[in-house]
Parts: sequence; structure tokens; C-alpha cells
Amino acid sequence: MKALRTLAAAVLLHPASLLMSAPIEVLIIDGQNNHKWEFTTPVLKHALEQSGAFVVKVSTTPPKGAPETDWQSWKPAFRDFAVVVSNYNGEPWPEAVRKDFEAYVQGGGGFVSVHAANNSFPEWKAYNEMIGVGGWGGRNEQSGPWLYVKDGKLFRDTRPGPGGAHGPQHEFVVEIQDSEHPITRGLPSRWLHCKDELYSRLRGPAENLQILATAKSDLTAEQEPNLMVIQHGQGRVMHTTLGHADYSMLDRGFYEILERGVEWAATGQVALTAALPADFPTEAKTSVVTLEGHPKQTPPPAK
Ligand SMILES: [Zn+2]
Repeated sequence: MKALRTLAAAVLLHPASLLMSAPIEVLIIDGQNNHKWEFTTPVLKHALEQSGAFVVKVSTTPPKGAPETDWQSWKPAFRDFAVVVSNYNGEPWPEAVRKDFEAYVQGGGGFVSVHAANNSFPEWKAYNEMIGVGGWGGRNEQSGPWLYVKDGKLFRDTRPGPGGAHGPQHEFVVEIQDSEHPITRGLPSRWLHCKDELYSRLRGPAENLQILATAKSDLTAEQEPNLMVIQHGQGRVMHTTLGHADYSMLDRGFYEILERGVEWAATGQVALTAALPADFPTEAKTSVVTLEGHPKQTPPPAK
């Protein structure tokens, strides 16, 4: 009893410090993707854990074509985590898992969509509301407007056309469009991102969505969103289109927006991950993060 009272007193005396020292619990989902998720999930995990702000668990779905019984035993405990990060682009999840995930985000759970996670689930209405816009999988004008930025203004283009396009991979400049948001506050307004796909012509319901950063597309000549935030019910969603391969993610700029975006989706603020790293990239020079054993993928040669 005395020990309990002492513990209670300690908690009362130092509630803020106790809260600050508790890392944010993150769940990464992978298991199917038209990308090398086996190589990119370890980079996502490293990006988060090296900040000291997060503890990360990974839930891997059954592989493509797995029997129904395998899916029945895949039931991630979303509510044990402050935020879920998707590195998944594949078969539909079982209906019970979809419903559970919808309720989790509606109720205030955080969600972060990375690169081809926005290709997934073209038929899942609530998921498309969460990501705001997506690409491929039959998406077109019926999915919603194509979003882009021109002269600092947001355009919602409703003309017919497919959703989702990209040209050959290259390095490109990420440009901040909203420097007031906690995720982008204090970041340089332009920086050079490592070789990656520059997604364009993304379409979707795009409700309650803010574009934080863009890059000028070689295909459309418009500023295409690559960092967005979406409010979905009580839940906060951060959506980045960056991160085609491990070499695209091993970029100090990518690390920083992922850390900040995951913290914001989890808590609504950026405090633990707000410090700007000394090796943040500049507009002229990328900043590669070293991770032992990576990159496991080789970028295509420049054309
Ligand atoms: Zn890709």
C-alpha cells in the first residue's frame, strides 16, 4: 500500500515528464505490395526508432492468394497503437478488419499512408476518404478530382482521365506549400529528395484535406502533392506519396517528414521530433541516411 501511495505521488509530481518519456506506439502494416515491402519496412522502422520517439511493431498480412483461414487469424489490435502506418498495397482485408480499422481512425486513431499504400483498396470508400486521393486500380474522374497546386492555389480538376501517373525516377525538389502546419513548421522551404517516383494525377474524394508539400511533375508540369494531411472523423491522417524504394526513403528529408507526420497523426502535435537535423538536405544536394545492409535495391540509371 505504501509503495502504491509512493508511486501515485511520483505520478502526480511528474505527470508531464512521464508522458514525455513514453514512446509513441506505432504499428506498420505490410505483407503485400507491388513494391519491395521486405526492404522498405526496415527503413520505415529505422526512421521512426532512431528518433527515440517511437516503438514500432510490424503486422504482416498473409501473402497474395493465401487461403481464407490464414486471413481469419490476421486481426491487428489497432487500438493498442497510437498510429498505424501502411506499407501495404494488395488484396482487400477481411470485412471485420476493415470495419475495425474504420472505427479506429474515426475514433481518433492516427493513420499514415506511404507511397503505394495510396494505390490500394480502390473500392473501399472509407479508405479513400482517409487517404484523400489515390492512384491506379481503376481510379478515374468518378473517384474524385485530380488535385494539384498552381501559383500557390489548390486546383480540383474534374475533367475525365485516369487517376495516378509517374514518369521515370529522378531526384526532385520538394516544395513546402504550407509552412504553418506542425509537420512542416521550421523546415527549409525547398529541398532535393533522393531518386524516387514523382506521383501525379492522384484522384479521390479529397475532403478535409490540406496539401503541405508538392513537387513539379515532369508529366503534368503542375505542382503535384507529395505530403498531405486529412482529417477523418476524430482521426488524423498523414499521406506521403514519397518512398518508392529503400534508396528513396534513405533520405534525411524523408526521415524527417515521416517522423513528424507519424507523431502528428498520433498526437496532433510535433514536439518530440521537431528538432531540425544538421544534415537536412538543401535545394542543391540530397542527404543520404546510412543504414547498414541498405540500400538493397539499385536505382535505375539516369536516362
Ligand atoms: Zn513506386
